Amino acid sequence: MGNTTQCAIIGSGPAGYTAAIYASRAALSPVLFTGLQVGGQLMQTTEVDNFPGYPTGVFGPQLMEDLRQQALRFDTEIIQDDIVEIDFSDRPFRLIRHSGEITLADSIIIATGASAKWLGLENESRYFGIGVSGCATCDGFFYRDKSVVVVGGGDTALEEAFFLAKFAKEIHLLVRKDTFRASQILQNRLKQFPHITVHFNTELQDIIGDGKKIKSVIIKKSDNNATEQILNVEGVFVAIGHTPNAELFKGKLNLDERGYITTIKGSTKTGFPGVFACGDVQDSEYRQAITAAGSGCMAALDVERYLASRIEKNGIFCIEEESTISTIVSRNGINCLDNITL
Ligand SMILES: Cc1cc2nc3c(=O)[nH]c(=O)nc-3n(C[C@H](O)[C@H](O)[C@H](O)COP(=O)(O)OP(=O)(O)OC[C@H]3O[C@@H](n4cnc5c(N)ncnc54)[C@H](O)[C@@H]3O)c2cc1C
Repeated sequence: MGNTTQCAIIGSGPAGYTAAIYASRAALSPVLFTGLQVGGQLMQTTEVDNFPGYPTGVFGPQLMEDLRQQALRFDTEIIQDDIVEIDFSDRPFRLIRHSGEITLADSIIIATGASAKWLGLENESRYFGIGVSGCATCDGFFYRDKSVVVVGGGDTALEEAFFLAKFAKEIHLLVRKDTFRASQILQNRLKQFPHITVHFNTELQDIIGDGKKIKSVIIKKSDNNATEQILNVEGVFVAIGHTPNAELFKGKLNLDERGYITTIKGSTKTGFPGVFACGDVQDSEYRQAITAAGSGCMAALDVERYLASRIEKNGIFCIEEESTISTIVSRNGINCLDNITL
């Protein structure tokens, strides 16, 4: 037997900490597991200019420390460990940590985020945050009247290029194949932006700079005797996709074709009663700190309602909730979890 909590939160990004603030203020005494990347994706960045409440901007790590302190203020227990396995087959759920310790939880909020995919070039990590970015919405503003490259041929790459088109004077879109993967509707929109130049069959070979700033990039054509070309740019936006951190839930929860946890529209319910998901792990669309935080708030409110809606009937916990998972049986018009004895 391990420790028991009403609400376990997995992840310490904006979604996880916000869920913790709301759950702890609702007296649910949540336990939050930080995972390996304590503070989440914003720990990798410098200036965050678009999180409400910081009129002069805030450094990513400072924002995450502020959120952590706010979660602690209302009695969240924060445990620096990774969850490596979850047993969803019984109630309370059993969460197994990397350390081997077990926590039992009446409800779970999954806020494990997503990881941007990178090209793997040595200078990509060297200039990360000082010219290399994975988010035009976050950093596009700093490239007013500058030349940049965007790497990628899918919807994300085109959307990043369109966003940058408002600021940058010239955008080179590097597409590895001879066609886009992006939807036709986005490809059609390209015509509206004469300052976006598309380079098909082209890969980014290297990023050149003076150690503080990017000066140019070397690109290589695959269809033209593999010739190399230099482009003078100051920014590199890598938009080759994200991987949701949802490996742990494969075969247990409903995931979409790209591996994101699916939630019931307008809520954070995963369809598995008692299990909720928020932030980037269930959002391939917006992927912003404030949307992650907003859905973290929703998850905590959903948990509160879920815990309050459980009804004990003859030693069995029943819940009045739509379920998409087959192990739930319906009794007298309410869905019951038939293996739960008080
Ligand atoms: C470089 C960079 C700059 C950005 N700049 C901005 C910006 O300026 N403005 C903006 O709005 N957005 C920005 N973003 C996007 C923003 O960071 C994300 O949208 C946001 O962090 C998503 O929050 P999240 O809580 O869903 O997940 P994340 O921040 O990804 O956090 C996920 C958390 O889950 C934990 N975790 C994962 N697996 C496990 C596990 N098995 N057990 C326990 N814990 C686990 C991780 O350790 C981490 O703490 C930026 C992203 C990057 C990469």
